Amino acid sequence: MSRIAFIGLGNMGGPMAINLAKAGHQVQVFDLSASAVDAVVAAGGVAAASAHDAVNDAQVVISMLPASRHVEGLYLGEGGLLAAIADGALVIDSSTIAPASAQKVAQAAAARGLQMIDAPVSGGTAGAQAGTLTFIVGGPADALERARPYLQDMGKNIFHVGGNGAGQVAKLCNNMALGVIMAATGEAISLGVAHGLDAGVLSQMMAVSTGRSWATEVCNPWPGVLENAPSSRGYSGGFGNDLMLKDLGLAVEAAVAKGASIPLGELARNLYSINSQQGNGGLDFSSVVKLFNKEGA
Ligand code: NAD
Repeated sequence: MSRIAFIGLGNMGGPMAINLAKAGHQVQVFDLSASAVDAVVAAGGVAAASAHDAVNDAQVVISMLPASRHVEGLYLGEGGLLAAIADGALVIDSSTIAPASAQKVAQAAAARGLQMIDAPVSGGTAGAQAGTLTFIVGGPADALERARPYLQDMGKNIFHVGGNGAGQVAKLCNNMALGVIMAATGEAISLGVAHGLDAGVLSQMMAVSTGRSWATEVCNPWPGVLENAPSSRGYSGGFGNDLMLKDLGLAVEAAVAKGASIPLGELARNLYSINSQQGNGGLDFSSVVKLFNKEGA
């Protein structure tokens, strides 16, 4: 049993913290949203009055926040969390943020004598709940070995892809492919429906054919095709459109930094941006299908 501070209890962080509590750890939790804290406390977490309070005596600190500015804002600067974390504690940031931002925070942690890894995740809210996430880790190998038992309590697959920041690069590559595939799947199903096809039958066919993907099988964008997909509950509770938009923006930045060409990634960023401007930013990113068929989806 370890004392773990967990900061950021949203769609992902909440179930991840609950899985650590279920594994027998003392999980000291904090979120700016009281209802998010309450949900984890009801499942075995211990409420902390602030992030500083949560990390006070913690052996492991885990954060799961929306974006770079939240992570830098939490850890760095005067009054930042790094100053308050106990000597010898291990810091794990599982948020998806800019690789440069992950490196900056890890360097500041190292300057304080703390080991830190970036460990963004894949697997969605269903994977967070089931404890089957994939962790994509950047940082020193010995820090990953210290983190491994905790990551295993929340996930199934762990990949060490390089030094600090490398986990974020790999995660952006995955999400760029996902953003493109989801938009393409929504477009394809919309075309079929425009011709009178049944979205469910079309999706079942695609799911055993070469158009198969996570978007057809797990998070189908068409309402009613998959009972547990966000599309079947008004696109609520999944991976927010604006989080995908953020990740594609980070992918574009990463491409510019290396002079790489990502034409489909840039197109996809614009599609999720338009979906956001149409008022769907808070919905699951599969709501991008609304751009192709207003009536059905
Ligand atoms: P979310 O918006 O549901 O949750 C973020 C939580 O952080 C909120 O509860 C918010 O109140 C809290 N928060 C923000 N600033 C804080 C602060 N300073 N102190 C304490 N709490 C703070 O987001 P999410 O869907 O859980 O995603 C979190 C991260 O995981 C993002 O970087 C996202 O890109 C990534 N991610 C999400 C999914 C997904 O399917 N939702 C999948 C993989 C990765």
